[in-house]
Amino acid sequence: MASPLSFSFELFPPRTPEGVAKLPGVIGQLAAVRPNYFSVTYGAGGSDQDGTYQTIVTVVEQTGVEAAPHLTCVGSTRAHIAALLDRYRKMGVKRIVALRGDLPATAMSPSAPGEFHYANELVRFIRETHGDAFHIEVAAYPEMHPQAQSPGADFEHFRRKVEAGADAALTQLFYNADAYFDFVERCGKAEVKIPIVPGIMPITGFANTVRFCGGCGADLPRWVRLRLEELENDKPALLDFGAEVVTRLCESLLRGGAPGLHFYTVNQASPTLRLWKNLALPMPE
Ligand SMILES: Cc1cc2nc3c(=O)[nH]c(=O)nc-3n(C[C@H](O)[C@H](O)[C@H](O)COP(=O)(O)OP(=O)(O)OC[C@H]3O[C@@H](n4cnc5c(N)ncnc54)[C@H](O)[C@@H]3O)c2cc1C
Repeated sequence: MASPLSFSFELFPPRTPEGVAKLPGVIGQLAAVRPNYFSVTYGAGGSDQDGTYQTIVTVVEQTGVEAAPHLTCVGSTRAHIAALLDRYRKMGVKRIVALRGDLPATAMSPSAPGEFHYANELVRFIRETHGDAFHIEVAAYPEMHPQAQSPGADFEHFRRKVEAGADAALTQLFYNADAYFDFVERCGKAEVKIPIVPGIMPITGFANTVRFCGGCGADLPRWVRLRLEELENDKPALLDFGAEVVTRLCESLLRGGAPGLHFYTVNQASPTLRLWKNLALPMPE
């Protein structure tokens, strides 16, 4: 029997008093559709550590929905990561999104400070210290991580995270379903059997979409970029167009066998809930 699909919502710890005030409302709206879990990002080098923890507490106390902290390891020490894992385990967290993270370019070298350099080392550390207590998600890059030497080398590094004990992967955002299907096909050929859940970024603007894609090396199809640019000053029309493009992407992914969807909500409820409704995903009474 096929496993049930997984639908999850990603949040970030708010950085302004307005963001803090708005977040419980956003969480409440998103929780109403009963996602499988929320995940909460974490700054590399520990910059959002308390924010991540507080946001996890808010999700769990307010909604009872499972919450998964992201944990980045670059520039960190075993003792620091161990303390965070203990803290999360004590509060009942059962899922971790294990990442390398990014430090400023000057600090990213093999001799960078800290006891971890790549995410596979973090996955191994979590398994060594906590066995199977956590379900571990890792990042996957259908269009290649921007710093990788080649698609093949990047895939080998992804495989090492799976060998180290990852249970599932969440992909970087993309707008080209074929890149995802190609990645899944490569996993099949390499006997990598974990679920690869597509990361979905709703389209809410021209400049931010170009920036997000540029930042992570995702291909923004030319026709989509041109239409977004044209609609830049007509927000309702841009939102309609963006929702249509991303709904079609999600439909194609689910039809093609994707094991769920992970939505990058950017702490906004309506763009993600609009996709949810378009896709006719379950809406509790
Ligand atoms: C779903 C998702 C959530 C994210 N959440 C966060 C977050 O909360 N906070 C944050 O700061 N960032 C986050 N990121 C961004 C992520 O931290 C960056 O993309 C980072 O550059 C890579 O992290 P990783 O875990 O994929 O690293 P890795 O898997 O370690 O890979 C990083 C790079 O190093 C290469 N590599 C891996 N192992 C080796 C090796 N042994 N030798 C040489 N090269 C190697 C890989 O090919 C790749 O180019 C997220 C990304 C995704 C997709």
